[in-house]
Amino acid sequence: MADTVKKLVILGSTGSIGCQVLDIIRSFPDRYRVLGMAAGNNSDLFSRQLDEFKPEYVYQLNKKSPCQKSNARYIALDDMAKLPEADLVFIALSGNAGIYPTFTAVTHGKTIALANKESLVAAGDLIKTTSIHSGARLLPVDSEHSAIWQCMAGESGRPQRLILTASGGPFRHYTQKQLEKVTPEQALNHPSWKMGRKVTIDSATLMNKGLEIIEAHWLFDMPLNRISVIIHPQSIIHSMVEFADGTIKAQLGYPDMRLPIQYVLTYPDRLANNSLPRLDLNNLYSMVFEPPEFDTFPCLNLAIQAMQKGGTYPAALSAADEFAVKLFLEKRICFTDIPVLIEGILSRHKSISKPTIEDILVVADQVKQQCKQIYKGDNW
Ligand code: MG
Repeated sequence: MADTVKKLVILGSTGSIGCQVLDIIRSFPDRYRVLGMAAGNNSDLFSRQLDEFKPEYVYQLNKKSPCQKSNARYIALDDMAKLPEADLVFIALSGNAGIYPTFTAVTHGKTIALANKESLVAAGDLIKTTSIHSGARLLPVDSEHSAIWQCMAGESGRPQRLILTASGGPFRHYTQKQLEKVTPEQALNHPSWKMGRKVTIDSATLMNKGLEIIEAHWLFDMPLNRISVIIHPQSIIHSMVEFADGTIKAQLGYPDMRLPIQYVLTYPDRLANNSLPRLDLNNLYSMVFEPPEFDTFPCLNLAIQAMQKGGTYPAALSAADEFAVKLFLEKRICFTDIPVLIEGILSRHKSISKPTIEDILVVADQVKQQCKQIYKGDNW
């Protein structure tokens, strides 16, 4: 059995996705071994995870040695992303912090389960080109991209169209006036998905769907004009693919991230897991579809425009969005200021064509400084 055990590295083990990856691993203790784990500042949870999974390698942000009494070897995050023994690198880091580790794993030809959106958004062209040379494989984790990946299984050639579904978030059909008054608590209360804070706010602004369009473009080599978005508040259909003959395939399931996480871990197998929910069609009263409200939620178009402009525009978009979300969560700006701030940053951005990874990281840093200047007077 030993040679069939998959050795995993999990970057971001204490986050929402990281915890659910470990949940799936608990269901299949004979199939997976956690080789390395990296986390941020949640030391208590990380310490418990280290006790339970006993990885050989460990990294923690702002620490120089493994927390508590773990015997694991402490290595840099970058080294963790390229560990030669790892069969799969699970990148579950939130935000722009995922860009460089993803690039490192791609450069070293790793097989990557990618749950971090920002890396493909900011550096999609570079990551794709590099992966062709290195042989790295990028496997999607996000429910929409997992759905598309599953719909494409067994199909040859490029499909006609990708249809990403979006829940519409908690503020669907709100007016501009209503949106001005919404609080972070309301925005964090997503109607169908339980996710990390950044992606939940992105979901409320529809920026999340904009970022997912860019990701889908790179993951599936689809031109932007063949990727569309449909609002589907029940979040049962996770996305659809239309083929040349007009057939549309969809992937259905309850909104539970453990389903796409298990798929990426067990691919190409499908394994029974009693802890995962089964869709009961008898209790599904209706499924609704409606077009996105582009005028009320400008972030969706901001993402599409940044992608069309190319260069470092998507990197600037991603960095500005991360900062805007942080300001909103800290109650320093209101919900409707999020797209205003991002648009302001993009309008003054001087793009670099064919950027290197260094260019992309510099742009992210510059955008952060610009945001700080716009909202100066505070100690960010
Ligand atoms: Mg998603």
